Amino acid sequence: MQKQEQLYEGKAKKVWSTADPDLLIVQYKDDATAFNGKKKGTITGKGVINNRMSNALMRRVESAGVPTHFVEELSERETLVRRVQIVPLEVIVRNVSAGSFCRRYGFPEGVRFARPTVEFSYKNDELNDPLICLPHILAMDLATAEEMRTITVYARRINAFLVDFWRDAGVTLVDFKLEFGRLPDGTIILADEISPDTCRLWDSETGERLDKDRFRLDLGGVEDAYAEIMRRLTDHG
Ligand code: C5P
Repeated sequence: MQKQEQLYEGKAKKVWSTADPDLLIVQYKDDATAFNGKKKGTITGKGVINNRMSNALMRRVESAGVPTHFVEELSERETLVRRVQIVPLEVIVRNVSAGSFCRRYGFPEGVRFARPTVEFSYKNDELNDPLICLPHILAMDLATAEEMRTITVYARRINAFLVDFWRDAGVTLVDFKLEFGRLPDGTIILADEISPDTCRLWDSETGERLDKDRFRLDLGGVEDAYAEIMRRLTDHG
């Protein structure tokens, strides 16, 4: 399958059309942004790691009972995926307090929740992806109540699977972001990526950050952290 026309260039990926109208090619870049594009940089080799990791995890998520857009890894940076209409929500699952949860509520970092939380942000760069509640999602017709039930069940199922997977690799899955899409027949499937760009992953023993927070917070050792988390995946996968 060959790339045809570039349809979209995002912060971390390019998307191309193919000869098949139902399939797209995603190309992962090394570019990194944070704080809605205010901080920009490059993480050498990130595109290769995110592509491989996301594909490996999507395959497993599919086996755990959640349909995904993954079709085939074409090269170290390119993957064939099913074309979807993206539901304009960021679906965020949290197991341990961190990031915007702590900032919003003045809550300490690193507290494990008795029950993982699922929350939604409205995908809108101009508005800074604001937190959104279910009634407002329904009021704006961003998704139906039935779709939101499916998305929430899938998000919890993915979390249960990923928590166990990363625990066996010596890693705490703190939180992560998912995006879902609709196939032409309306079926909801997992889209976008699951990678160190979209997950907080802490070494279970030392608490060392092995994810994009190293870039966001200028902690240094960004490339090494991405390589280390990829090594954990490969060794325990
Ligand atoms: O910043 P916040 O604490 O809300 O992020 C929660 C999780 O969602 C983190 O793992 C972060 O990497 C991910 N996220 C993302 N893209 C965004 C916002 C958050 O991947 N635009």
